[in-house]
Amino acid sequence: MVDKVQIRLTNTRTRSKEDFNPIDDKNIRVYACGPTVYDRAHLGNARPVVVFDVLFRLLQHVYGEDAVTYVRNFTDVDDKINARAAETGRPIRDITEETISWYHEDMKALGALRPTEEPRATDYIPQMVAMIEDLITKGFAYAAEGHVLFEVRKFSEYGKLSGRSLDDMIAGARVEVAPFKRDPMDFVLWKPSTGNQPGWDSPWGYGRPGWHIECSAMSAELLGDVFDIHAGGIDLQFPHHENEIAQSRCAHGSEVMANYWLHNEMLQVEGKKMSKSLGNFFTVRDLLDQGIPGEVIRYVLLMTHYRKPMDWTVEKVREAEKTLRRWHHATADLQPSEPHPDFIAALADDLNIAEAMSVLHRLSTDPSRDRSMLSSLLASARLVGLLTEKGGNWLTTQRIGGGSDVLIEELMSQRWEFRQLKMWADADRIRDQLSSAGVKVSENKDGSYTYEFTSDFDPVKLAAIK
Ligand code: AMP
Ligand code: ZN
Repeated sequence: MVDKVQIRLTNTRTRSKEDFNPIDDKNIRVYACGPTVYDRAHLGNARPVVVFDVLFRLLQHVYGEDAVTYVRNFTDVDDKINARAAETGRPIRDITEETISWYHEDMKALGALRPTEEPRATDYIPQMVAMIEDLITKGFAYAAEGHVLFEVRKFSEYGKLSGRSLDDMIAGARVEVAPFKRDPMDFVLWKPSTGNQPGWDSPWGYGRPGWHIECSAMSAELLGDVFDIHAGGIDLQFPHHENEIAQSRCAHGSEVMANYWLHNEMLQVEGKKMSKSLGNFFTVRDLLDQGIPGEVIRYVLLMTHYRKPMDWTVEKVREAEKTLRRWHHATADLQPSEPHPDFIAALADDLNIAEAMSVLHRLSTDPSRDRSMLSSLLASARLVGLLTEKGGNWLTTQRIGGGSDVLIEELMSQRWEFRQLKMWADADRIRDQLSSAGVKVSENKDGSYTYEFTSDFDPVKLAAIK
């Protein structure tokens, strides 16, 4: 194991950047709110997945691979799912199963590791019911007309995470006023189900849980009453996380639910909020189907610090693809050594991936062309899920589907690299192979070049060049 690096994280709970000190350094416990499974994950949903995947990998690197328990749930009971079932006439279970398998496929394509546990809400109904009963017994919740509500006024620290007072919240929020609520801010722990709505028997009648109680029940079951890190998008800070904290702290009588709260900022597309009406709404699958490799998407998502809003642009995709091609080639025949200490230090500083990436750029362009730098580049990139062997597949598969220009550019940059390394035979081999595939290249002294296709140009031969 590596010498322990001190990780620092910006903790939303305390509004400051703090040293990360785990409760138990043999078992670091992390919870991230996962998707509601009724449709393909959109690009925005991929941001927390990739960001917290890097956190997971960093924690594993520092504390040991088996020393981290990372839980990310699936919300598989929700009114959006019920609506989708009603629209399509399909059983709920089919929809959630299919969406979960899509999610796994798409997030794998982005190089995200599977969390240690991926609990489904519907597998934890007894734990939710028990927690709700406990909250009623302790006087924090009340049953009314088949509903159970959490009584927000009973928890004096409600609103502390998001820094709002209860009165601000009432003024600003779209709270549902209902006759059975003692206060408009009280939120649902349990609600009645009728007709085709999914439901379970409970002390309050046939019904289903509210959304917030899921995360409180599942995190307590899998990580304990108090755990290390709770993560999610900033859009979840209020009311979802505020409500999770209220439920968990009141049920367990604890000072905190999690010691560190991490929130990622939102993703936009070309400067605008992603929305179906603006026509800039993409799922991860849409982008993969357009031929943008998952590794490139991952790189773009990592270019912006997680606490800053990020903009997805075509320009960034181009830049990412170019950089990754260069790095793949520069490291093609190398074995990874150790991640560079500067790279780790940047990651440990509140996941400053932009800074970490600039370390990689430095390693890849080091004028000494030292192979040990490139081996370290490879190890560093792999630590954050880039330049993995699998990821590199797109370099060749994309060639087959066309893109001769990209391929030639890539081979020429490889030739340039060989020349810099004074590996003349390899450099010449590329020129000769291009020529025999029917690509005639004219090179200038400064490294620039032009090329044309001869009449015997053979794209298959071109694609086969290694
Ligand atoms: P949802 O299924 O809508 O609850 O979202 C799942 C996850 O994606 C949550 O952690 C959200 O915070 C996150 N998320 C949703 N939209 C965006 C976005 N545009 N940018 C970044 N994260 C998002
Ligand atoms: Zn949650």
